[in-house]
Amino acid sequence: MTEHRITVAGVAVDTRHWIGGERVASADTFTDVSPIDGSTIGEIARGTATEAAAAVAAAKAAFPAWAATPRAPRARILHAVADGVEKRLEELAIVETTDNGALLRSHRRGVMPRVAHNFRFFADWLLKLDHEDFETRGHTNHVSWDPAGPSVLITPWNAPLMLATWKVAPALAAGNTVVLKPAEWSPLTASLLADIAAEAGLPAGVLNVVQGYGAEIGDALTSNPDVRRISFTGSVPTARRIAESAAANLTPLSLELGGKSPLLVFADADLDLAVDLAVEQYDNAGQVCLAATRLLVEESVAEEFTRRFVDKATALKQGDPRDEATDIGPTIHSRQLEKIDGFVQRALASGARALVGGHRGDGQYYAPTLLTDVRQDSEIVQEEVFGPVLTLQTFTDEDEAIRLANDTRFGLAATVATGSRERADRVTARLVAGTVWVNCFFVRDLQAPFGGSRLSGVGREGGTWSFDFYCDLKNTVTAPKGWEHH
Ligand code: NAD
Repeated sequence: MTEHRITVAGVAVDTRHWIGGERVASADTFTDVSPIDGSTIGEIARGTATEAAAAVAAAKAAFPAWAATPRAPRARILHAVADGVEKRLEELAIVETTDNGALLRSHRRGVMPRVAHNFRFFADWLLKLDHEDFETRGHTNHVSWDPAGPSVLITPWNAPLMLATWKVAPALAAGNTVVLKPAEWSPLTASLLADIAAEAGLPAGVLNVVQGYGAEIGDALTSNPDVRRISFTGSVPTARRIAESAAANLTPLSLELGGKSPLLVFADADLDLAVDLAVEQYDNAGQVCLAATRLLVEESVAEEFTRRFVDKATALKQGDPRDEATDIGPTIHSRQLEKIDGFVQRALASGARALVGGHRGDGQYYAPTLLTDVRQDSEIVQEEVFGPVLTLQTFTDEDEAIRLANDTRFGLAATVATGSRERADRVTARLVAGTVWVNCFFVRDLQAPFGGSRLSGVGREGGTWSFDFYCDLKNTVTAPKGWEHH
């Protein structure tokens, strides 16, 4: 018999699905492997259409009661989930690092505290959400935010619990029930979240977690007519599949997809700051949707910028992500490593030059890489690599910088380094991106809209935009007369 209660770095994890408040196994399992050293973590339930249907049915059954739960107790339970996350923060951090290879220090100090914050923020926002009333020729308009219904949330492996709870928290706060499908390369923390939510008093069926390969279980989730919202973070090809599958029921979609974001460095920028911003793009081995992987540097400072960048990048320490001194961990999977190396080797073969890296490291590690002599229309400039691979191009004026920056099919983010406020205003106004940072990177407030333009996505998440998505807005118009017949 397959062992479903495994111990990961001393933490007990149940690797079955969580459906209707119960642990449910599948006939088959798949093996979860740690990217740190290729060791086997354990066997995970391999979901099929049967478990997908059961999870949606559980979410449907639990929906009326959860939707009718007043806001204050709903918010209280979400705060209790946040308490549970904080209580188990260290366990969540080490399990996530073992599972996806991202740095333990950032899970401890940045990511997991934000997971808790996701719940607190949306719980508090729920209590602030206004019910608008206004008059039209004596008639009252009352706008209400009705929870939409069972919501399917499908998430990637690069920031598993952070990205999952970025959806789970607002969906639950809005009064929806949820089926969460984490990525097969990082299934563990979603299972721990199910435990935490149950301990916090979330009723059975309000949060369900199904495990498995997206290709095998995804369609059964996204084509189910009882599903009223689908929120997806992942790649463009999968988003297309989901959109096709959701089309039959016209299920509303939120899509947070890939990017090929630029970092524009103008000659008037603080060059040390610009170099730090550039080196930061290697975080999480470059497996970050927002990463500014195209460095666009004004020609007059390009040599100096490159010199300082190479110094810093070659000093980065690559190794075990559990070690506090490590700057860059492994890539998630041998398939991802192959994909990254394929991009780099094809670029080198077509004339690119590696100023840093350009090759694999040991095991699943890829050397931080900077490629130059790349053409704007080449694959390495146009396609998302999702690894520690940056390109360097130069420009001579603002127009050229903006033209290069906007010339991909993506539009997720952009970063501008400049010492001139006027330039910052001019340039940011012309960039096509959901988020633009000026002289900073990765500062994110849950109140702000987050999402991408073009192939980077559909819709925005954050604050009121998340509630808009997870609710059906209803306007009730009431006449001033008609009551006298009662
Ligand atoms: P992916 O598209 O391969 O997988 C994402 C999820 O979709 C996984 O849970 C997977 O199992 C599931 N899936 C696969 N096929 C499916 C199907 N047919 N139906 C339903 N679900 C299916 O993406 P990935 O490799 O896990 O993640 C990397 C991608 O995610 C990158 O492109 C990255 O830019 C993007 N990303 C975007 C953001 C953002 O906020 N914009 C954040 C993080 C990652």
